[in-house]
Amino acid sequence: TWLPLRKDLTPLTPYGAPQLPAQASLNTNENPYSPSPALQKAIADAVLVVAANLNRYPDRDAQVLRTKLAGYINSTSKLNLTLDNIWAANGSNEIIQSIFLAFGQGSALGFTPSYSMHPLIAKVCGTSWIDGKRNEDFSLNVQLAVEQIVESKPVLTFITTPNNPTGGAVAIAEIEKLADACKSVGGLLVVDEAYAEFSQEKSAVTLIANNPHVIVIRTMSKAFAFAGARVGYLVSDVAVKDAMMIVRLPYHLSALTQAAAQVAIDHRPELLGGVATIIAARESVVKALRDMGLTTIASSANFVLFTGFKQESPQLWAALLEKGVLIRDVGLSGYLRVTIGNEAENTLFVSALKELI
Ligand code: PMP
Repeated sequence: TWLPLRKDLTPLTPYGAPQLPAQASLNTNENPYSPSPALQKAIADAVLVVAANLNRYPDRDAQVLRTKLAGYINSTSKLNLTLDNIWAANGSNEIIQSIFLAFGQGSALGFTPSYSMHPLIAKVCGTSWIDGKRNEDFSLNVQLAVEQIVESKPVLTFITTPNNPTGGAVAIAEIEKLADACKSVGGLLVVDEAYAEFSQEKSAVTLIANNPHVIVIRTMSKAFAFAGARVGYLVSDVAVKDAMMIVRLPYHLSALTQAAAQVAIDHRPELLGGVATIIAARESVVKALRDMGLTTIASSANFVLFTGFKQESPQLWAALLEKGVLIRDVGLSGYLRVTIGNEAENTLFVSALKELI
């Protein structure tokens, strides 16, 4: 064809969670609770201040935002991190991309099924991707994972905890074993903690001081209920953050985004207030699914992967959509993933599913 597209990109397809209108949108692991009117106003006020200076570039280094993010992580993990341990970007997807741009010379290893953007961004950045193996029940087999790291010597090893789309979390002692294995082959361990706030496990940010080979990815899109603003960040040793500054585009994080995110962090008791409700609702949805005779995979996140229905996954997915419920076919035959929504959405999902199975 006429288009000189890079040869290695031709087999790839765009990321494509369908954005369809539905009564219950339970497909992209968003938080169902929108900001309160008071918080909406606080954000609008902060944006108004910034609007007066939109002729100027934003702070290229987002220093105020990074300081606030360090404060948040310090408060939850009892650490003394500073802005030098934080890098922020347009969603954690941009963080993942920057990690590949900075460190992706060689191969990257992940354990499937996991977050589908890890291999996609790897390939887009020209890093070869190795699909590592998990246990049959989707839990991470740490012994096997260590063997795979030692054997293939990846420059980057990805784990997602809690894992998307399966929901299980990895204990900190196990992450430490993986970190040691990565260190022994001269690679980095990237721990994607997009759903950490929904889990009881200790965060891998506590490992960084003793093991600078560990990079933790976080996002404001899930527990923080701030997906529309696009703010993700990493927590790392200062050397990793310095490498991010080489590959970042100048002024990548707009003044509007920085201002809105700073207000959101200041209002975190409100924004994170939905987490406990979502966890309780997750347990109710799991019970309802089990009462229907379905099998659920144990989840420490704001979604549940389930199986045991008689239809093919795409058929059941489409039938639910007909009833106004949009969930996710993650490409695992016989499974579907549902995000935990608000009470009305969860009720609609459970009643629609009951009629279909
Ligand atoms: N990591 C994981 C594991 C995710 O599930 C997601 C979103 N689905 C992301 C990263 C990206 O999130 P965002 O770019 O909104 O921060």
